[in-house]
Amino acid sequence: MNRKHTREIRVGNLSIGNNAPIAIQTMWSQPFPAEHDDTAYEQLLTSLRTYATMGCSVIRFSYPSSDDKAVFSRICKESPMPVVADIHFDWKLAIEAIACGAHKIRINPGNIGAKWKVEEVVRAAAAHGCAIRIGLNGGSLPLRLREGDHAAGMVATALEYLEWFESWSFDQTVVSVKHTDVETTYRAYRELSRQTGYPLHLGVTEAGGVITAVTRSTWVLGRLLHEGIGDTIRISITDDREHEIAAAREILRTVGLESGGIRLVSCPRCGRASFDSQAFLKRIQGRLLQVDAPLTVAIMGCQVNGPGEAAHADIAITGIGNRVYLYEKGKLVKEVRSETAEEELFKRIEELAHA
Ligand code: SF4
Repeated sequence: MNRKHTREIRVGNLSIGNNAPIAIQTMWSQPFPAEHDDTAYEQLLTSLRTYATMGCSVIRFSYPSSDDKAVFSRICKESPMPVVADIHFDWKLAIEAIACGAHKIRINPGNIGAKWKVEEVVRAAAAHGCAIRIGLNGGSLPLRLREGDHAAGMVATALEYLEWFESWSFDQTVVSVKHTDVETTYRAYRELSRQTGYPLHLGVTEAGGVITAVTRSTWVLGRLLHEGIGDTIRISITDDREHEIAAAREILRTVGLESGGIRLVSCPRCGRASFDSQAFLKRIQGRLLQVDAPLTVAIMGCQVNGPGEAAHADIAITGIGNRVYLYEKGKLVKEVRSETAEEELFKRIEELAHA
């Protein structure tokens, strides 16, 4: 696949654009822990480490008030991945988040207010080596553009803001033009990609729960990525963040832009099932997503068709009652008890991962 060449920008120790691997992002969904609540802070860091293990490269936090300054500064120093501050309306908060050590901020210049306030923010970002995402969406278009085609409106607005930034000699910019309507989002990104060389952050806004969000995001992002468009992605899902990361990774894998991590194969189950593959998969899925090895793992419901259908898998598992069988490339290699099946599977995955 030929990816469109875009300008490289630095977000902490991460490169976005210029053919760097497409960075997966997610957003923290809770308020910041209280300043001296070390337990809650450690839980936050543990979650971030889990996200990183699953393949997430950038974490974004809402930064709604100065009350969280101390905790946010600490997160910027100790996070296992670059940190983005999401700012609305308040230019002083944007400058404060930059001073706290944010590696990138996300703003919509249109709601920051007067142009001079945006300039202050951009100059502060330049002084601190902080990148900026111009994050536009259909709902926040300038009034004069709301009645027309939102895709065209978002593109025109993004280009105008990019011109502002360039006039202040700032080029560490990523752009997003998200919309709740999938075709509007698709058209906006295509046109923006045609008209600018800045890296693009892809996403569909307010995409819904797991099924609607993944379906809609796959339809839009799959096509854009397949056309070589996009440098970083977030799949917005009204659910656990782990789903966002797993979905992003799966979309990248499906379009051929990601080869790391476990490729999971599982049968849908039918009347022949002799092994509760559904319960087993539910139990191990979170753990599987944290293995960074390019292996195909199959979870199959029966011994009749399972091993044959999973013959291409590096490792497959199925069973009858309390007896569980491990296969490698279609060959039976081990019989284990159901109570130890999970540990046996992961032990072998680890061995194969380091072979
Ligand atoms: S592997 Fe077995 S249980 Fe699963 S769908 Fe095929 S025949 Fe049915």
